[in-house]
Parts: sequence; C-alpha cells; structure tokens
Amino acid sequence: MDNSAIPLAEIEAALHAGELCFHYQPKISFHSGRIVGGEALLRWKKSDGSLVPPGLFLPQCEESGFITDITAVMVNELVQDIARLRALKPDIQIAFNVSALDLLSPYLVKMLRSYIGNQIISPGNIQIEITETAIVHQSGRIHATLLDLVALGVEIVMDDFGTGYSSLDALSQLPFSSLKIDQGVVGRMSEDPKNTHIVRSSLKMARDMNIKTIAEGIENETVYAFLLASGCSEAQGFWMARPQPIESFIQVLKDDPSWPSCELGFLYNAWSNHLAYRRKVLDTVYTMTMTRPEEWVNLPKMDLRHHAAYCRLGQWYRDMEKAGFSERVYKRLKDLHNQMHVAGDALIKTVKAQPDHEAIIEASNAFLQLSEQVDQEVSRIVALSFAEGLRENFSRADDEDDARNELPRFSRFS
Ligand code: C2E
Ligand code: MG
Ligand code: MG
Repeated sequence: MDNSAIPLAEIEAALHAGELCFHYQPKISFHSGRIVGGEALLRWKKSDGSLVPPGLFLPQCEESGFITDITAVMVNELVQDIARLRALKPDIQIAFNVSALDLLSPYLVKMLRSYIGNQIISPGNIQIEITETAIVHQSGRIHATLLDLVALGVEIVMDDFGTGYSSLDALSQLPFSSLKIDQGVVGRMSEDPKNTHIVRSSLKMARDMNIKTIAEGIENETVYAFLLASGCSEAQGFWMARPQPIESFIQVLKDDPSWPSCELGFLYNAWSNHLAYRRKVLDTVYTMTMTRPEEWVNLPKMDLRHHAAYCRLGQWYRDMEKAGFSERVYKRLKDLHNQMHVAGDALIKTVKAQPDHEAIIEASNAFLQLSEQVDQEVSRIVALSFAEGLRENFSRADDEDDARNELPRFSRFS
C-alpha cells in the first residue's frame, strides 16, 4: 500500500468512525529496570481488524492540515487511556507525538489545561514529543506554546534526535526536558563507529545540560547493555516490548516485568561532568592570570557554579542517599568532593583578589590535590562495583560480604 492509496476522505471517515486508537510501547528506566511509562503510537484499526501504521496515513494529514483534527480528537482518547493506566500506576508517564501544526494554535494547551485542572490527569502523566524537523523553522508561536506547556508542568521531549540539522540549536533555544535518540542512529551503532560516537556524545551533552535521555529502537540485548553502561536514562525498543493495545499494556503493567539496570553508567557520566567542572575552574584561572583585570568582563560565560550540589557527581550520591543505599559506599567521596568544590571557589576568589602568585599556586595545589583524591575514590567505587557486577553476571555471587551487599546495585543482569 502506498500513501496515495489512502485518500484523505477515508482517513476523515475513519477518525469519525472511531477507528483510530493508540498502541502503547513501554519505556523502561535504566535506573530501576522497570517500566516508567510508554509512548502512545497512533494506529488505524480497520473494520476488518487490519492495522494501518501511522507512516501510511499521517504524512497526507500533515500536508493537508487535517492532523490538527486528529490530534484534537485523539487527545481525548489519550486522556481516557491515561486515566485507566493511572489507576494502576499513578505516576505513569505517557509520551504523545504532536506535529508543528498542533503547536501553532493554543488549542492543545487549552485542552490539557482543562484535563489537568479537572484532575483527570496530572501534568507529570503526559509528555509531548516533537521532532526536531517539525520545529526547524521554529516560530515564536511554537516557542510560546511550548513554554505554556512547560508552565502547565508538562515535559517536552525532542524526538528523533541525531537525524536533523538543527538539533543543537533547537535544544538550546527551546524548553526540552528530554531528548530521544533516533532509532536509526541507535540501530546503526553496531555497523558504524560514527553512530556510536553520536550516541555517546549526545548522552554526555544531555547530562551536562541536565536533561534526560531516552534511546529508542533497542532491538537486542547487547545494544541495551551498551546503553545501560553509557548512562542513558530510559529505554524503548522491540527487544523489551513492542507497541501494543491498551489492554495488553495494562496487563504488562500488572505483571511488572524487569530488565537489567545498573548505576555504573550514571556514575561515569557524573564523573565526566565533574571533570568538566575542574576544567572550567582551571581554564578560568589560566585566562584570568593571563589577562588584565579590566578585561575580565569579556570572559566567556561558563556557568561556573561551585557548590557540590550543582555537580552531577554531587547529585549522583544524593540520588544514592535518596534510594536508601548505605552511606559507607560514598561517604568518603562525598567529603572529598565537597572539599574540592570549596577549594575551587577559594581558588577563583584568590585569583580575583590578585595577590602574589605564590598564593595562587598554593590555592591551585590544594584544589588539584583534592581533585586527585576524588578521582581515586571514584575509581575505587567503580572497581568494587565492576567486580560485583561481574560476579553477579557470572552468577557467582554466593559469597558476598557485608560491604559488597551495601553497594549500589550496579548490575542486575541475573
Ligand atoms: P516515533 O515517534 O519516532 O515513534 C517510534 C517509532 O519506532 C514507532 O513507529 C515504533 O513502533 C517504532 N519502534 C519502536 N521500537 C522499535 C525498534 O526496536 N525497532 C524498530 N525498527 N522500530 C521501533 P510507528 O508506530 O510506526 O510510528 C512512526 C511515527 O509516526 C512516529 O515515530 C511518530 O513520528 C508518528 N506518530 C505516531 N503516532 C503519532 C501521533 O499520535 N501523532 C503524530 N503527530 N505522529 C505520530
Ligand atoms: Mg515519538
Ligand atoms: Mg522517534
């Protein structure tokens, strides 16, 4: 069947006959290995029971503008579905795809505001996915709609990241809370190292920008494990679960299956963010000592915030703390890390006060020494956890001692 085989009038009739519905593809958290939500994907269920995928009827709807009618009708369906899913999992996050046309008028915001106002769903239950190509010619109107959605508490996800030309620009200009790495890029990692590089750098960049990452198109266990180790936040793909009708999605939620999860990738990412802090401090010191104080107004802005809580490494052990892991694992790291960030602040202040160079050398040495100790401590935790993960993976975990039992569950492949 090609696109021209489905005239718009037929699609209009299908919409009004209630033949359009959503299938839901589960999304899994790499932190917990459990389902945190799903993506709603449009399907046309014909009266003969056959299913038409969106790729065969959405392009002509986009072209004609009929897509906004579809969205307006289907948002109601979506909200009803979410209300059912919430009964099982109140914090479920369902992603919904919208087109640029949907964002050009305020109707979507109005509808969602009313559902949220009436407490049928909560803002955390819904995420809006838009592709970067949809917003390539981003208008002020689209930007305003996205801001309205964010003000409502709805998260915005950039879909198909890595396929377009404007991703980075759009990412920095618009209020995205997550980026979803395109399934093509994810799938081609096994064929071409460039794709692996795109995926890894996207994960790192997102982490530095404090936004979540979702990988779609995970079709096998190896790609899953690789993304887990790389510190991606959420997973979606045929290997874990296919898009399915609401009834079977409900059953899956009830069954509450689990997939491998681990903390190692998150720790690596947190560490690399922490190394970026050290680099920023040292680059700033170097630039300032090379230039005259009256020129310092021209220093490039680097978002240099010293408190350890702003560093991803600080956030990592806070997350561990919140998740109830024993402080024994990360207490030393926490202390050294706090001291190092205090030393970073002191170093910049010393340079600004322009004392003699001896004072600056002393402050930099203190900073660098602590930094080395933090690195050693991270390496220690990584080594311990890596060993623990290997033992677990090879099912030889029957002689665990107390300390290892208290480690974050770095690996759950069993
Ligand atoms: P998308 O938003 O990027 O959705 C992901 C697509 O990848 C889905 O195709 C899903 O079935 C497919 N997929 C998921 N995991 C795998 C995997 O492991 N391997 C492979 N090969 N594919 C996988 P689907 O359902 O055919 O949707 C295609 C596109 O249609 C969507 O891409 C989205 O752009 C659009 N779409 C779907 N539903 C809606 C909707 O309600 N509104 C709008 N405006 N667009 C929609
Ligand atoms: Mg999508
Ligand atoms: Mg996509």
